[in-house]
Amino acid sequence: MKDTDGKDASAAKCSCGEAAGCGVSRRDMLERLGKAGVGVLALAAVAGCASGARIPGANASSAQAVSKGKRKYRYGMVVDTRRCVGCKACVVACKAENKTPPGTFNNVLLDDPDQKSKVDKPLFMTRPCFHCENPPCVPACPANATYKRESDGLVVVDLDRCIGVLDCIPACPYGARTEDKGQNYPAVAEKTPYAQVPSPEYNQFRPREGERSTKGKVRKCTFCMHLQDADGRYDKAAGRWPACAKTCTGHAIHFGDFNDPTSDVSVSLKTGKAIRLKENLKTEPNVYYLV
Ligand code: SF4
Ligand code: SF4
Repeated sequence: MKDTDGKDASAAKCSCGEAAGCGVSRRDMLERLGKAGVGVLALAAVAGCASGARIPGANASSAQAVSKGKRKYRYGMVVDTRRCVGCKACVVACKAENKTPPGTFNNVLLDDPDQKSKVDKPLFMTRPCFHCENPPCVPACPANATYKRESDGLVVVDLDRCIGVLDCIPACPYGARTEDKGQNYPAVAEKTPYAQVPSPEYNQFRPREGERSTKGKVRKCTFCMHLQDADGRYDKAAGRWPACAKTCTGHAIHFGDFNDPTSDVSVSLKTGKAIRLKENLKTEPNVYYLV
């Protein structure tokens, strides 16, 4: 499997003992996911072998299980792999929305370009930050620059505090953080009008060049929190919605508040088998995959 950045995730061996694309059918894959808690899907994790266990009590009880949070909102995603067509619109939309530089992706799409897995429906996964309940990236930061917000559970980075040590990058078991290595697209380097458009991330509108630039710091998915209103709400009808979810051509990416039992994520979680990646690490991702 390769991710959007061209990394070959298939080199990693799954704990089933077989490489990605190990010649099993999609049905076989799903059975393994459900029975053994071993995930071919989990190979998607860039950082090596992974185990994706089926959520205990998935389907009817899942939405209830994730609605216990006491915070005001509990934002998350449900990604329906049955609907994903691998078009990468989510990756492009994220880049366009967040103005991320070359080499920096807030989300990636993992696919199997060689079709080695002989699946009856090709398997694709989009991977944003999972905004984990127990995020190992947070204690890894020596500058306390990354933290989980009380109000909505988003895991964010205080770019003024980030000193570029980047210990949070290997601490994330999902490969969801990348270093901003300071590269520019030609339009920026050539100082075209595009160069004047700053990244809206964290509502800070940092220009690509200069003192406030994010060069040398860490970048990650923010659930497009700059689109929230002052009360922390998103508004799908008004277009204030994470760019990847808004753009998804297969309507595979559901976003919303798990604390609201009527939200799209709470409802969609009941429509199939749901897994989270690397459940054994007890990170409790707020992104679920329907398989
Ligand atoms: Fe941190 Fe990685 Fe979890 Fe995101 S996915 S909260 S970066 S550990
Ligand atoms: Fe990118 Fe926003 Fe989607 Fe995160 S929620 S992957 S920042 S478009």
